[in-house]
Amino acid sequence: MENDSEWITGQIKLSINGIPLEMQMTVPAKPVKPQRMLPIFQKMSNSFVEMGISAVEDSGQTISCKKGCTACCYQPIPLAEIEAYNIVELIENLPDPRRAEIKKRFDEACRRFHEIGWFEKLDRCAYLSKKEREKVVLEYFYENIACPFLEDEACSIYQARPLACREYLVTSPAENCSNPSPETVQMIEFQIKSAATLRQIGDSKNLNAIVNFLPLILALKWTEIHPDEFPEKTGERWMADFFQRLTNSQIPKEQNY
Ligand code: SF4
Repeated sequence: MENDSEWITGQIKLSINGIPLEMQMTVPAKPVKPQRMLPIFQKMSNSFVEMGISAVEDSGQTISCKKGCTACCYQPIPLAEIEAYNIVELIENLPDPRRAEIKKRFDEACRRFHEIGWFEKLDRCAYLSKKEREKVVLEYFYENIACPFLEDEACSIYQARPLACREYLVTSPAENCSNPSPETVQMIEFQIKSAATLRQIGDSKNLNAIVNFLPLILALKWTEIHPDEFPEKTGERWMADFFQRLTNSQIPKEQNY
């Protein structure tokens, strides 16, 4: 472990579901909000996704997703709360009129989904059958409202996009995504689920405990109602929390964080 007072670098060696994992990570040495850890979690997620893609290709399958495919950007995207605060910060740092334009898209999307009662349906999802839940997702998709960050058929926040977007990859023909169904769209089932893990980190318990789904388009409204109350922890401790969730095992504290 090396420490230059601002940053600390260490080697991570783990086995997740039998998959050996070795990475060198540099994280903040001092306590920080989890949003500051997001670029590190995003980088890790990229590595896990690459591993998943290799496994799929080794099994003889091909990923159909390619530049210009945007059907998945019309789906409800589940955010980790950390990502919601980060998205707000990202938008607030945009120059006007771009900032105003993006906010308008969020507002318009929220207004429409309120009008059709979609958020209420989402809240009731836990009490619905699998088929009915799929219907709720499809209802969102068929409103044909793009993610507010989709511009010129590309993601305008590609480097900072949510982990769920990174993990949305399919092996079924790309054209099936424009008329999706569980039978016609085969998503990759990742062994290492970084998006789901991130959703558990910094969980404020403000979300519906049963549904636990924060759609991207609600990020601005939701963070307005729930100001950021995340604790500050060292980068090392945030990493330990992440891997603890990922591996379902306790990672001991080695020092006073
Ligand atoms: S964040 Fe980017 S990749 Fe994700 S849904 Fe929006 S436009 Fe698509």
